[in-house]
Amino acid sequence: MLRVTEIFHSIQGESTHAGRPCTFVRLTGCPMRCVWCDSEYTFSGGEHFTLPDIMEKVRAIGCKLVEVTGGEPLAQREAFTLVEQLCDADYEVLIETGGFVSTEDVDQRASIILDVKCPASGEAERNHWPNLERLRADKDEVKFVIADFEDWNYTLEIIKRYDLDKRTKAILISPAWGMVDLQELASWITASGLDLRMQLQLHKYIWGPEVHGV
Ligand code: SF4
Repeated sequence: MLRVTEIFHSIQGESTHAGRPCTFVRLTGCPMRCVWCDSEYTFSGGEHFTLPDIMEKVRAIGCKLVEVTGGEPLAQREAFTLVEQLCDADYEVLIETGGFVSTEDVDQRASIILDVKCPASGEAERNHWPNLERLRADKDEVKFVIADFEDWNYTLEIIKRYDLDKRTKAILISPAWGMVDLQELASWITASGLDLRMQLQLHKYIWGPEVHGV
């Protein structure tokens, strides 16, 4: 059984997959408490679903791109089996993870979008660094959510320390919603000379920042 907050069909809002129709399986619960978290509604509640129930709901939606997200999807052990079953059923599978659970046992066919938590999140000490060494340049992406200039400097340091420009398909730079001036962030990115991808959360512009499950 997995505890699930919502399963819905929408537009992928972040990463290099932004703009694509996607089925989201949002699992309940996260042991982290990032100060700017926009998914607090996933921390509790949810409904218990068996894996066949989830597979059937995903099948009924009929979209070949599926993202397993949360909360922290990998905090529930059975999520690893769900990913395996989705891959077996020939879905293109994305996993959006907060980066503190080891990705070692994730099915190799799935693509990982891995957060690195910056200092302003309040959770930087819980980053599981071996996850960065497992990233694959042909399919995995890494995401930094930036709230201030200290976060930006931290991002540059981590990119350099782990050679992330060679190790990942894309390095995603996201503003923490409402916390950093977008033009300022854009200027830091262009001045860095690095091959980064600034991204806004498309779904928040389409449906509004508080709306979920659409
Ligand atoms: S890891 Fe994600 S879901 Fe968990 S507190 Fe941080 S932003 Fe929220």
